[in-house]
Amino acid sequence: MSHNLHKNFQKLLQGYQQFRNKYASGESSLMQQLAKHGQNPDVMLIACSDSRVDPAILLQCDPGDLFVVRNVANLVPPFENDGHYHGTSAALEFGVCYLHVEHLIILGHSQCGGIQAKLSTTPLPQDDFITQWMGLAYHDTAHTHAMDVDTCAQQSLLNSYHNCLTFPWIKERVDQGQLTLHLWFFDIKQGKMLEYHPKLETFSELDVKASIP
Ligand SMILES: [Zn+2]
Repeated sequence: MSHNLHKNFQKLLQGYQQFRNKYASGESSLMQQLAKHGQNPDVMLIACSDSRVDPAILLQCDPGDLFVVRNVANLVPPFENDGHYHGTSAALEFGVCYLHVEHLIILGHSQCGGIQAKLSTTPLPQDDFITQWMGLAYHDTAHTHAMDVDTCAQQSLLNSYHNCLTFPWIKERVDQGQLTLHLWFFDIKQGKMLEYHPKLETFSELDVKASIP
């Protein structure tokens, strides 16, 4: 094990100790409360596996705040009831139909490795799953390869939004105003969250004040 790897692993162990002190010590700790009453998050979020975009850190959440799925490039597949193994769809079903979340955020980000792999003209040396999975991302055979990686990631958010609405129990709740979908895009270099405005068809910085009642 290299020195750097060892250092990073030590950091995790120290982090666990801090977590224990903050959330899991004493009779009335947050973990005790969550164990007693169960989870009741208002928000579900689909994010990329990228180590730089952990939603609980970006949004400074506590345990119990967020129901999260992370996959390569934060993609939502279309509704396919075909007997295959649909991990993201199973999580959506649980979050929407059983936890009754009121908000579903799909969180994309800049410099996404999954999107980069999709746009690259060089085949991946090891590719049992990645290219097949990335088939869910935005695809326009005429323009995709010439497309900027961040533009493609933002287009893929729109793809995932439309795929969400192919799930009948998501469409129904959105139509009835019980569930709101949000498309967010985190710019890593600027450290800023952008949100998609459907009427303007553009992304701009998340308006924090407007969201607080
Ligand atoms: Zn990514």
